[in-house]
Amino acid sequence: MLSKNITISENGTLEFAGYNTVELAQKYSTPLYLMDEEMIRERIRVYKKALEDFFPSGSVPEYASKAFSCKRIYEIAREEGINVDVVSPGELYTAYKAGFPMEKCFYHGNSKSCQDIEFAIQKGIGCFVVDNVSELSLIDNISKSYGVIQRVILRVTPGIDPHTHKKISTGSVESKFGIPIDNGDAVEATRKALSLKNVSLEGFHCHIGSQIFESEPFVTAAKVMIKFMVKIKNELGFIASTLNLGGGFGVQYTENDPVIDYRAKIEEVAVAVNEICKNENFEVPKILMEPGRSLVADAGMTLYTVNSVKEIKDYRNYVSIDGGMTDNPRYALYESEYTVYNASKASKEADYVATIAGRCCESGDLIQENVMIAKPEENDIIAVATTGAYNYSMASNYNRVARPCVVMLNSEKDYIAVKRETLDDLISLDV
Ligand SMILES: *Cc1c(COP(=O)(O)O)cnc(C)c1O
Repeated sequence: MLSKNITISENGTLEFAGYNTVELAQKYSTPLYLMDEEMIRERIRVYKKALEDFFPSGSVPEYASKAFSCKRIYEIAREEGINVDVVSPGELYTAYKAGFPMEKCFYHGNSKSCQDIEFAIQKGIGCFVVDNVSELSLIDNISKSYGVIQRVILRVTPGIDPHTHKKISTGSVESKFGIPIDNGDAVEATRKALSLKNVSLEGFHCHIGSQIFESEPFVTAAKVMIKFMVKIKNELGFIASTLNLGGGFGVQYTENDPVIDYRAKIEEVAVAVNEICKNENFEVPKILMEPGRSLVADAGMTLYTVNSVKEIKDYRNYVSIDGGMTDNPRYALYESEYTVYNASKASKEADYVATIAGRCCESGDLIQENVMIAKPEENDIIAVATTGAYNYSMASNYNRVARPCVVMLNSEKDYIAVKRETLDDLISLDV
């Protein structure tokens, strides 16, 4: 099985986090998102402990909540004592309503409006991750009108290509995110930030991409960032206390992906950071990391019911399910790979080649093509693993399909974290 929280029951059906998936599908109906609460907490603790053990005090993970955002996840982040990243008023509001402490909340994004900034300041946002110079001025002006000195860090682009998918690579000079170091813009932006009265600059941020399996791109980025911080110290006399290395450690979607030991990878980054700082005679800054996917992806599984099986002789076998790109658009967007199980027949041999097709009126609405599963029949339950990140948070109502509910699982109980949308929810905004 792909992950330790996926097992097979005595009656041959698939179990997730110790729960029988076929029974959960009956109880809550399908499509259904499952989240393994204990796996999420375990992952958070691995990051938190590693950052505490290997970096100076104050180093802490920030959960990049765009990966999976609902009130419950911010409650878990609060209970575990980590920071969170938000990128919109919607994510911020969800965190706020969940009672997440706003001073531990970081506001990201390359396109923040006046209203967004004002809303965040009203709610007492901890820190803005500033993407560009016009945003910097805007934050300064709005902070002034509220009589606050706003903490900020500057997002810069170290010019690194982490060898990942183009759409999820973000650290190159021409990226829409951040201010380039390469051409001197980042020094000028820092000069500007230091001259403003209502912002207080704490340090620098970079995020090089996603689904990165090695420590090497982080080490390369850290080297560029620390050299930049040394330059800032020498030229502007400003010593940054914080370096945010972004998110992006990968997860195992299929058996072909490597399994990552996050603690070991963070230690490798720490060894390199200490070495670089020593060589540059620069005090090791507080290190922040922003995992999204690697905190929640393999804590998730999606269950579907098979509506029909269509065998097109000599071509392919379509297994059509009751969900699709509306609950998981990632295959349609990036041809992302997933591991699929016939949860009803998990102990049977996976010898049937299936294309898992969604219900939408789009040929591209597929969950996966030509995967091996046990031969399915109508009403079997299909399970797709590792769907905890960028599934529910990317879900849509295309074709007016209602979004599934999210059920959390822990050792004591299964409970609804997000309710299933109803048909009346779908028309609730129509006038
Ligand atoms: C998306 C994103 C992350 C999280 O990336 P993962 O691959 O999910 O870990 C972290 N930081 C920033 C700025 C991001 O945009």
